[in-house]
Amino acid sequence: MEKTLLLLKPSAIQRGLIGEIISRIEKKGLRLVGIKMMQLNDDILNEHYAHLQHKPFFQNIKNSMMATPIVATCWEGVGAVEVIRLMTGVTNSRLALPGTIRGDFSMSVTENIVHTSDSPKTAITEIKRFFKDEELFDYEMASLGYLYAKDEFNP
Ligand code: UDP
Ligand code: MG
Repeated sequence: MEKTLLLLKPSAIQRGLIGEIISRIEKKGLRLVGIKMMQLNDDILNEHYAHLQHKPFFQNIKNSMMATPIVATCWEGVGAVEVIRLMTGVTNSRLALPGTIRGDFSMSVTENIVHTSDSPKTAITEIKRFFKDEELFDYEMASLGYLYAKDEFNP
């Protein structure tokens, strides 16, 4: 089944939103397969935000991501990347729709509380960047048969 990465940024940690955000994803029906607290540094952020290296806000976003530890989470489910991306809302939190994580809890573009993978291909690369193989867990989710119809997933 598809996996995706969700980072709780320093703005989520400082705003006391770790539980709230994780709870939303849990309740939606994604399976948590990895979770850890990490202090990010320049090396990992240069890689993670390589697509933004020529943007004027590049140093700002890196500083923002190093301000406190972050909480890295990995989730699994049918269409997990798109589901969590939709639950995240657009980059500019002021324009993110109510009901989304950014839309409900944030007012900022930079301090937009979560990072989520934007495509299945990106998700594979990003999960490897933040988690070692042994930090991701495979376990039976007892509710699986009620989360999906049999023809919606391959157990
Ligand atoms: N960002 C910013 N200013 C901008 C665009 C992006 O500070 O004009 C920050 C913001 O925190 C965003 C991150 O850079 O989440 C990565 O940008 P991306 O375009 O990948 O947005 P995302 O995928 O997080 O919605
Ligand atoms: Mg992005």
